[in-house]
Amino acid sequence: MTETRPKPTPRPAPESLPYWKAAHEHRLSLPRCDDCERFWFPPSRSCPHCLSANFAFQDVSGRGKIFSFVTFHRVYNPAFEGDVPYVVALVELEEGPRLLTNIFGIPHEEVRCEMPVEVVFDDVDAQTSVPKFRPVA
Ligand SMILES: [Zn+2]
Repeated sequence: MTETRPKPTPRPAPESLPYWKAAHEHRLSLPRCDDCERFWFPPSRSCPHCLSANFAFQDVSGRGKIFSFVTFHRVYNPAFEGDVPYVVALVELEEGPRLLTNIFGIPHEEVRCEMPVEVVFDDVDAQTSVPKFRPVA
């Protein structure tokens, strides 16, 4: 007998809390440096480009392209048993940073690198929405 387990949910660190709060409001928001004006991901306490500690979260377009991806055919966590095969991708946003995410809304065999994608938010529970991506229509 198969028991359905709940999927693990994100546990925001202090640095990523603004990211997850924005996602809950269906906004994609990333840290942007006040000094060199570049975005980065994942959130951290200082800019990885120039090491400045002056930054603020700013909404981004939610558009990008698939930089790389893999298709999971095997169940590594029983909570994902009903999802295989599924695609885990590195999406490069128009603003530069790359996010590790899922691609859906397309058969996994049709996913390609360089494919234009846009963010959608998966409301996994009342407190948590996870940014995922689908092909641009
Ligand atoms: Zn910087």
